[in-house]
Amino acid sequence: MANNIFVTKSSMPELQEYMNEILPMWESRWLTNMGVKHKQLQADLCNYMGVENIDLFTNGHMALELTLQAMNLQGEVITTPFTFASTTHAIVRNGLTPIFCDIDPITYTMDTNKLEKLITDHTCAIMPVHVYGNICNIEEMERIAHKYELKVIYDAAHAFGETYKGKGIGSFGDASCFSFHATKVFHSIEGGAVCFEDKQLGDKLYELKNFGIHGPEEVSAVGANAKMNEFCAAMGLCNLRHIEEEIEKRYQVVKRYREHLDGVEGIQLNTIQPEITYNYAYFPVVFEEKQFGASRAEVFDKLAEHGIGARKYFYPLTNTFSAFHGQYSVRNTPVALHISKRVLTLPLYADLALEDVDRICDIILNCRY
Ligand SMILES: *Cc1c(COP(=O)(O)O)cnc(C)c1O
Repeated sequence: MANNIFVTKSSMPELQEYMNEILPMWESRWLTNMGVKHKQLQADLCNYMGVENIDLFTNGHMALELTLQAMNLQGEVITTPFTFASTTHAIVRNGLTPIFCDIDPITYTMDTNKLEKLITDHTCAIMPVHVYGNICNIEEMERIAHKYELKVIYDAAHAFGETYKGKGIGSFGDASCFSFHATKVFHSIEGGAVCFEDKQLGDKLYELKNFGIHGPEEVSAVGANAKMNEFCAAMGLCNLRHIEEEIEKRYQVVKRYREHLDGVEGIQLNTIQPEITYNYAYFPVVFEEKQFGASRAEVFDKLAEHGIGARKYFYPLTNTFSAFHGQYSVRNTPVALHISKRVLTLPLYADLALEDVDRICDIILNCRY
C-alpha cells in the first residue's frame, strides 16, 4: 500500500502555518458567515486571479447552481457532456433543460462550430467548461452569445489561476465558476467561487448563498446555504501563499511525462494553446488502441496492478447518466463519446516524484503488444 500512487494528492501547508492562521478564531469565535478569513481570501483571490469581482462559496457545485438561479433563467442551456456531473446537475436542478453540444477533438472544450445550430427560441444561456485547463474558444463564444443575447457561464473549475491574453480567466463571460475542492490545483478543503461582471448579479449571489436573506427582517429569495466557513477560508489563505511553487512543481511533472510520451504513436497528449498561462491541473492521454497497441482499459488495469490510480475522466458522458433515464442522446456528441472511451488522466500533483513519472510511463509503454 505504501507505494500506491493516487491520481491526485491534496496540497497542504505546514501544520504550523495553518495553526497560526486559525488561532485568532479561538479568541473571536467567529467561525463562519463572512468573517475576516473569508474577506481576506476574497481580496487575495481577486488579486491573484486578476478579476474585479469574486464571491466565495461552500463548493464549486453551489457556485454553479446558484449562479444559474441568480440569473433567473428559463428554458434551455447549451452545455457539454464532457464534464463532471456537477455542470449538468446544476442546470437540471434549476429546472432548466441541458442541450448537449459536441466537443473539439483537440481541446476537448465545446466545439463552437457546432454550437450555433443548437440555439432555439428557448435557449437562455451557454455553460461551457474549460476542460483540463484548456480554454474554450472565448472569442467565438462571446460573438455567438452577443448575437443571440445569451448568458455565458463558464465552468472554470479546471482553470484556476490561468490567464488568457494576459487577463484572468475569471474575467470572461457573465460569470465563471471555480472549485476549490481538495483535489483541485488550489483548494480550501471544500470551496468554490464565482467571478462575475455585473455587481447586481453579485448582490443576488450573496443573498442566495445565505438563504435569500436581504436584511435583518427581510428574506427576498428562496436561497440556499452555501457560505464558505472560516476554517476553509484559512486553508485557502495558506494554500494561496504557495500556489506559484505548486504550479511550478506540477509543470516539472508534466514536462517529464511529455519527455516519455510525446510523439508515441497512438497517443494524443494535451495541446498547448497560444496566449494561455497554464496551471497544469491534469495530464490527459487519449489512447487509440490500433495505433498504440493497447486499449485504455488495458492501460488502466495494468497501472492498477502496480498500485497506480489513473482516472477515466470524463467517462461516462453526463448525457448517458442513469439519473437521466435515457432522456438525452449521444447522437449529437460523437466526438465527446469517442474521447470519453479512450481518455485517461494520469497521476499529477506537486509532490509526485519524477522517478515515479518514469515508472508510470514505463508501465504504460510496456502495455503495447
Ligand atoms: C470539481 C468540479 C466541479 C465541482 O466542484 P466541487 O467543488 O467539487 O463542488 C464542477 N465542475 C467541474 C468541471 C469540476 O471539475
